[in-house]
Amino acid sequence: MKKHNFFAGPAILPQPVLRQASKAAWRFDDMGLSILEISHRSPQFGQVIRRARHLIRELLALPDGYHVLFTTGGASTQFFMVPMNLLNPDETAYYVNTGTWSTKAIAEARHFGQVVELASSADRGFNYIPSFRVPRGGKYLHLTSNNTIYGTQYQRFPKSDIPIVCDMSSDFLSRPLDVRPFGLIYAGAQKNLGPAGVTVVIVREDLLGTVQRHIPTLLNYEIFIKKESMFNTPPVFPIYVSMLTLEWIKEKGGLEKMERRNKSKARLLYNELDRNPLFEANVPNKRHRSLMNVTFRLTRPELEADFLSEAEAAGIIGIKGHRSVGGFRASIYNAMPRSSVKLLVDLMADFAQRKA
Ligand SMILES: *Cc1c(COP(=O)(O)O)cnc(C)c1O
Repeated sequence: MKKHNFFAGPAILPQPVLRQASKAAWRFDDMGLSILEISHRSPQFGQVIRRARHLIRELLALPDGYHVLFTTGGASTQFFMVPMNLLNPDETAYYVNTGTWSTKAIAEARHFGQVVELASSADRGFNYIPSFRVPRGGKYLHLTSNNTIYGTQYQRFPKSDIPIVCDMSSDFLSRPLDVRPFGLIYAGAQKNLGPAGVTVVIVREDLLGTVQRHIPTLLNYEIFIKKESMFNTPPVFPIYVSMLTLEWIKEKGGLEKMERRNKSKARLLYNELDRNPLFEANVPNKRHRSLMNVTFRLTRPELEADFLSEAEAAGIIGIKGHRSVGGFRASIYNAMPRSSVKLLVDLMADFAQRKA
């Protein structure tokens, strides 16, 4: 039985993407070879990486001046690659701390320049998005758009005179985005786009070439731009599978359609959490709730293990909350069908009735 995959990441991918990917792992594009054994310099892979880049440009309607890069080392490498490429030792970057991932990004950035924590939601276990005013004169403002572990998300981005750098790992391409306030966007693929192993970086060229330090070749955005992400062997298969997901998003109607589907799924789940007395959403403010990672708990914690095992028996997996938060987390990324969310919601309703 195919399980209902609510894991936070690596995460669910669209069924047609997995089917196509497994075919290509055997025989790719009439080459008589698997995609796993072809050269990254082959014309066939050249087409794949160009197509992937083009689809990201198209889906986000990227203006000129923005470059799409495929890097490795996950989003965690961007935590230091960003300040290494953008921030001189005497320059200031503002960071908003909305959880584990922001905290790590801040810690890495401190090695490269002046880092100011502009706001934090640590005082309440990161269960809200703090409000703040963006000062003038900083090099960039760093945000984490969706907080995978806590289930919070910016529904609107703050007005900012300085370029926004944003970790969009867990909500990349989940909704339409006006990219113009953003100087740089990065996203590890394994949440909402493809397999682990590739990270998408979108960078506006005017942010580059302003730091004095030496940047190692493979950590230099300018090299990635110049070499079209092929200075060395890129992660061929993760890029291929990401391209398939991008095709799938386009075929489904693009980002507006994704957002509509995602909102409908999230509404289904949050409505149940707000209605059902046995369950409670972790994020009280409705305007801070994530459409991607829905975190919740039982009002009678002694029933948690019971609920988890009933869910597993129904084929619902991956809903255990992050170890730092506890409770539950249902990750309902782009590829998650509404029917799987409905199954979870029906189980919650039924469970509560039986335990009443
Ligand atoms: C998962 C995650 C990361 C870490 O990603 P890696 O690719 O494992 O380094 C960073 N930021 C966010 C928002 C995440 O969800």
